[in-house]
Amino acid sequence: MMNTPSLLVLAGDGIGPEVMDQVKRIITWYGDKRDLTFDVSDDLVGGAAYDVHGTPLHDDTMAKAQEVDAVLLGAVGGPKYDVLDFNEKPERGLLRLRKEMDLFANLRPAQCFDALAEFSSLKKEIVSGLDIMIVRELTSGSYFGEPRGIFVEDGQRVGINTQRYTEAEIDRVARSAFELARKRNNRVCSMEKANVMESGVLWREVVTEVHKADYADVELSHMYADNGAMQLVRDPKQFDVIVTDNLFGDILSDCAAMLTGSLGMLPSASLGAPMENGRPKAMYEPVHGSAPDIMGKAMANPSACVLSFAMALRYSFDQGEEATRLEKAVEAVLAKGIRTADLMQADGGKPVSTSEMGDAILAELEASL
Ligand code: NAD
Repeated sequence: MMNTPSLLVLAGDGIGPEVMDQVKRIITWYGDKRDLTFDVSDDLVGGAAYDVHGTPLHDDTMAKAQEVDAVLLGAVGGPKYDVLDFNEKPERGLLRLRKEMDLFANLRPAQCFDALAEFSSLKKEIVSGLDIMIVRELTSGSYFGEPRGIFVEDGQRVGINTQRYTEAEIDRVARSAFELARKRNNRVCSMEKANVMESGVLWREVVTEVHKADYADVELSHMYADNGAMQLVRDPKQFDVIVTDNLFGDILSDCAAMLTGSLGMLPSASLGAPMENGRPKAMYEPVHGSAPDIMGKAMANPSACVLSFAMALRYSFDQGEEATRLEKAVEAVLAKGIRTADLMQADGGKPVSTSEMGDAILAELEASL
């Protein structure tokens, strides 16, 4: 028997605490009804941490995040904090968590619930039933490579960033993608620009080597990232798992996400190396931000945060069936036309509040027993 799994909840700023409240109700439900109890602790991140500690992430909170089985994060940021120095900004708290926990694989599912297919900018038949997973390398590449900066050369300014990947960095994220594919439809498409970038040549070589050595049962294909962007809007259902670097992943995952309609629906997971207990270091968070425009109005859609918890059930706690139960509960709520304001059509009737959306998800969970 494993010990009671531990969760650190960092609700953060803006609508973060509002959507996280609904997740907490669901966590309680799992304890009461599925005998799945979590040891939950709360702490501050982002602007909320800055207000109390003068830093967006206190060292004690960082230490706790390293100890727990998984971190659940709401959102950080807000106009109040825009004036702060770079190192004090709420987003630095988030980046510190990702960096110090070494969360190198960012999983962004792009899943289109049938009930929301009309929200996509693409034709319904192209996105209906879409279920792809983008694995983005998160701790290296152009956003971290040295040298970087703005320098003066021959009397003019030059901006420099460096795309740099080691074999080990490519190897580990490729393995994450292959492992995921085995739990899904067993296909990986790796995207880079091997036609014009040496880092892309190495990326392709290492992914191919890892595949040959340990994952020959998984179907592997390669695609140039620019073609990948075109294919994502032409025929997204051709993909199962896409693995790509930090920069291309940033762009391609946003592109894929928008195929599915609303920011309020999109979960994510960031995973690192396995800990002693075999679970990966992990942080789960909705893709959206703190939405200051709707904060305090009970309008936020909690689904992205709820679906992030479903990812935690699947990837940190080996509770795939319970994760599916929760995803299906969200889907059933939407299919009944119960929607928060972000998912209403112009003539769509009356939206429900954040907590009413939580009520409806809990009712579906209850009905699933
Ligand atoms: P945002 O994601 O907060 O909001 C964009 C738009 O989507 C807004 O109109 C908002 O009302 C809507 N929206 C977002 N989530 C929603 C939800 N769950 N339900 C209903 N509507 C939702 O992005 P932004 O406005 O560009 O940024 C606001 C703040 O959030 C900024 O300070 C930014 O730095 C920060 N931010 C944080 C994260 C994060 O914590 N991971 C991510 C993005 C932005």
